[in-house]
Amino acid sequence: QKSTVVITGASSGVGLQAARALAQTEQWHVVMACRDLAKAEKAAQSVGMSKDSYTVMLLDVASLESVRQFVKNFREIGRPLDALVCNAAIYMPLLKEPLRSPEGFELSVATNHLGHFLLCNLMLEDLKKASVSKPRLVILGTVTHNPKELGGKIPPRPDLGDLKGFEAGFKQPISMIDGKKFEPVKAYKDSKVCNVLTMRELHRRYHESTGITFSSLYPGCVATTALFRNHYPLFQKIFPVFQKYITGGFVSEELAGERVAAVVADSEYSQSGTYWSWGNRQKKNGKSFVQDVSKEASDDDKAKRMWDLSEKLVGLA
Ligand code: NDP
Repeated sequence: QKSTVVITGASSGVGLQAARALAQTEQWHVVMACRDLAKAEKAAQSVGMSKDSYTVMLLDVASLESVRQFVKNFREIGRPLDALVCNAAIYMPLLKEPLRSPEGFELSVATNHLGHFLLCNLMLEDLKKASVSKPRLVILGTVTHNPKELGGKIPPRPDLGDLKGFEAGFKQPISMIDGKKFEPVKAYKDSKVCNVLTMRELHRRYHESTGITFSSLYPGCVATTALFRNHYPLFQKIFPVFQKYITGGFVSEELAGERVAAVVADSEYSQSGTYWSWGNRQKKNGKSFVQDVSKEASDDDKAKRMWDLSEKLVGLA
């Protein structure tokens, strides 16, 4: 019997290539948790996934109701959950005004963090009943969460502050976690700090009692994905070239997906609480290593506060 992995946002980019890589091993059945079923189906076929290697299921991770419904639907198909990959994300750098999720939260934090936070908490129960002895939960991170790294130095830098915006309910007129003025690039980076804090707090709370491996990774700069679809067209042209020839950070979607697949499946990535990286400059056959996360993302008190406030926002507390 195959193991089952759920991947959110598997309809394009890194998530799609991770789905392809895992399905290809023939040890994994991939549940593609996507907001557009027809697009996901087409995407699976475009990368040559065989019909019996995947199931497409509806998930709009920005909607808390959709997250809850997805978990119910997943339980109905009767497969064990052996790995969960939180990959879906949006990045909307040119927005002047915040967009809102169905529940009224700022959309990028709702999508990248709050929906996944609820999904992780609900699906812990499923991971505890996995068919493998060491199930895994993997959350996509990024170098831009970390001002200590070259790729993270460009302003605006992430800063959750005292999480005053979360504390105040995170709905109109509030749009930032720190409660300050809306800044869409910072909102994305803040959400990715929350992703790393969530991974570390899941590890601290649940690794020992459940045996689940919690990890995060920076797959490299995948400058060609649709993540940049909301940027200036000129940026979309120049960014991959810049990453390829100037910074050396460029990674293909295929390779990034294979890195995610490795963190899900390979025995060398079984250490929980870990943030994996292949570095900023890509070398041929470059090896992965355990990387320090940013100062803010390694702050245990902030992790607890972020956790408690997120629990309230998604209706778990
Ligand atoms: P893409 O935009 O190509 O893929 C994002 C995926 O998320 C798409 O499948 C998209 O669906 C899905 N998605 C967005 N919103 C929702 C939603 N509300 N519900 C369900 N699915 C949703 O981006 P990438 O592949 O580049 O990004 C994947 C992950 O990798 C992200 O977590 C990102 O932060 C991380 N990452 C990316 C880097 C890069 O350089 N690209 C670098 C480091 C990390 P749809 O197809 O319907 O739009």
